[in-house]
Amino acid sequence: MQIIIFGPPGSGKGTQSVMITEKYGIPGVSTGDLLRRNVKQGTELGRRAKEYMNEGRLVPDRLVIDMFIERVKQSDCGRGYILDGFPRTIRQAEALVEHESEGCVIEVVLDVQVEDEEIVKRLAGRRVCAKCGANYHVDTKPVPPSGKCDINGCLGEIIIRDDDRREVVKKRLKEFREKTAPVRDFYGERGIVHGIEGVGDPKDIFAKITSVLDNLAKSLQYQGNVI
Ligand code: AMP
Repeated sequence: MQIIIFGPPGSGKGTQSVMITEKYGIPGVSTGDLLRRNVKQGTELGRRAKEYMNEGRLVPDRLVIDMFIERVKQSDCGRGYILDGFPRTIRQAEALVEHESEGCVIEVVLDVQVEDEEIVKRLAGRRVCAKCGANYHVDTKPVPPSGKCDINGCLGEIIIRDDDRREVVKKRLKEFREKTAPVRDFYGERGIVHGIEGVGDPKDIFAKITSVLDNLAKSLQYQGNVI
């Protein structure tokens, strides 16, 4: 199944996306992670994307679309995938339609809904592992006393993302409202958007998501636990 997890920055869609990949055995494709990897590796794409990302602006479509299409053409995406952070503009949604014959038919959009005030609070306290990308939070999941990531012996350094600074968060939310929110209507017209209340225990939010996905899998006659 081809799934989009949609929502403003800080809505928890990254966390939910990882839980979905683990339960259903499909890969997660996060354009934010792909771009950050390019920045870290110092590629041409990374050099171009960096200034947009640090300012909380969207990276231009032409840079993101090619990178994304190359990723979903890889064999592990053959049984489906979950998209986190793509499409973020109408142009990107149209690019998916143009590649429908190559397996880019979106079947469900999970729309994770969180108010702006809650988002600013969440992102200001967010910390991430520079190595594996795991999320921590000063209130809900404090950084271990060592200051190093304790997930599966990772020991990566835990940092504040440049784009989680308060003024950048405001810019990211503005970009979301102006350029990304219309993507929800694009899929709304196709009748495949499911609203998910994104406040509360991540496990409870995940239960709502699995209920949507399992019902859909049944109606689309996917086999067993495999979507
Ligand atoms: P994320 O981790 O998904 O919040 O993405 C971090 C940053 O990467 C965003 O603020 C954008 O600058 C950039 N980015 C990620 N995905 C996209 C996309 N689909 N289109 C444009 N820019 C993106």
